[in-house]
Amino acid sequence: KKTIRLILGDQLNINHSWYQTVEYSVTYVMMEIRSETDYATHHIQKIAGFFAAMQEFANELRKQKHQVIYFQLNDENNLQSFDKNFQFLIKKEKFTHFDYQLPDEYRLDELLKNFCNSLSITTSVTDSEHFMSSRSELGDFFEGKKIFLMESFYHMMRKKHNVLMQGDKPLTGKWNYDGENRKKLPKDHKPTPPLVFNNDVSEIVAEINKANIKTIGNVDAKNFVWPVNRTQSLELLEFFATECLALFGSYQDAMTPNEWSLYHARLSFSMNCKLISPLEVINRAIQERENRPDEIEYNQLEGFVRQIIGWREYMRGIYWNKMPDYARMNYFKHENKLPDWFWTGKTKMNCLKDAINQSLNYGYAHHIQRLMITGNFALLSGIHPDEVDAWYLGIYIDAIEWVEITNTRGMSQFADGGIVGTKPYVSSASYIDKMSHYCGSCYYKKALKTGDKACPFNSLYWNFYDKNEDKLGKNPRIGMMYNVWRKMQPEAKAELLQQADYYLKNINDL
Ligand code: FAD
Ligand code: SF4
Repeated sequence: KKTIRLILGDQLNINHSWYQTVEYSVTYVMMEIRSETDYATHHIQKIAGFFAAMQEFANELRKQKHQVIYFQLNDENNLQSFDKNFQFLIKKEKFTHFDYQLPDEYRLDELLKNFCNSLSITTSVTDSEHFMSSRSELGDFFEGKKIFLMESFYHMMRKKHNVLMQGDKPLTGKWNYDGENRKKLPKDHKPTPPLVFNNDVSEIVAEINKANIKTIGNVDAKNFVWPVNRTQSLELLEFFATECLALFGSYQDAMTPNEWSLYHARLSFSMNCKLISPLEVINRAIQERENRPDEIEYNQLEGFVRQIIGWREYMRGIYWNKMPDYARMNYFKHENKLPDWFWTGKTKMNCLKDAINQSLNYGYAHHIQRLMITGNFALLSGIHPDEVDAWYLGIYIDAIEWVEITNTRGMSQFADGGIVGTKPYVSSASYIDKMSHYCGSCYYKKALKTGDKACPFNSLYWNFYDKNEDKLGKNPRIGMMYNVWRKMQPEAKAELLQQADYYLKNINDL
């Protein structure tokens, strides 16, 4: 048997059982191809990061004596799609078996299934040996249920993997510490500077430019900040455990100008391309707390574990349970276009300016910036979820559809009508002011609802509730807001709606 195996750009798991023995009858194939660089307009750092990590991975495999064929982007023989490159290789080298790992993306899953059906040689598919739950586990767990509550899934995962448990009870008697984890950063607090890498990706960037690939964002190609191999990913994990974990939970939702990562792990890229596994990430955090129980409070650790074995696995389960229909959901029937300044950061709104510029400069924004700044604004402005998805899928270095679309269309835009979230995550200026230091120096005034300098979030917020009363009015979690709205004087209501209408018509000038 002469086997050819595909390794996708997000399958860089060196601990996979495939690599545990060197077999001379097996050849691994990796490819930088246009079908992957062009299915969305990606951030330059996202493409460069993936290619750099793939090249390092191929070198690592070769060091271990595996046989690797690597197609670089501008190689002459690169036919720029999986099936064409494989058809060529299978014919040329007379391979008799094709093997691949379960992809995480629906599009690739379908493509590879169809490709296998088209082949006359034998084929097989293997698990990617990365996640802590299977594709179908969430669907099985919630079988017959209407609501897929993350919290119950998370409890199941804690029990199943015996994480922070004492028998079948949570270690401390309590599952959820979210209430202790939502602090604003004190004004004079100087966060720990992030650990960044100075990788040189200039050759890769030159190839991307030579191929004329359309990208967004900026890159300092000689000082690329993201980890591109397992060693660097482990270094970043070490940095998180020793320098960030102790304040992770407390400031998880905090935002402040010019501080792009605060106490966040920035491990999503490493995890999503499988350079490191979720299990080793949480184990390192648990071990750190065991070493320093007096310095690291339990809520910091629980907050982190929840994100990884809770949210991350939950989103993947939702994706496989709901695709492909999920990608078409538009509960509010929103139709608007994203304002142009989402691609330039040129807006007078301080909070959005900071979140967007940071995203353009680093391919990264932390969760609350994505959810409560850019996402909040897009939802309040009635932007079509396709537009919102395309932006998030392009701009973030960690954006792979299974985790991007569930967070964007689901959690952030409520376009799934409440599968992921029980209510839309929207807010006026008061929440943003509560969690950040943006409003004080903003052109707009956080306390004003109408008039020239009124913060747009304020009128857009009420406009959103007004327009969607038929869909949200009976939601028990937002009933209180509707009571406030209904009690408002008709003139005040009309003024707010007029203000929102004005801002929506002039959205590019905000
Ligand atoms: P930390 O805050 O340090 O959290 C630790 C880890 O927990 C992350 O690395 C991540 O793996 C996991 N995690 C935390 N929250 C989530 C979540 N809601 N869903 C899944 N995993 C989570 N995450 C992506 O990995 N890719 C995306 O494309 C993506 N798109 C998003 C779009 C929107 C609109 C929103 C609101 C969130 C999105 N997220 C996405 C989730 C989350 O914002 C990122 O995982 C996180 O910001 C990554 O940075 P970090 O590693 O510093 O995370
Ligand atoms: Fe953002 Fe409004 Fe605050 Fe300005 S005033 S920073 S636009 S919330």
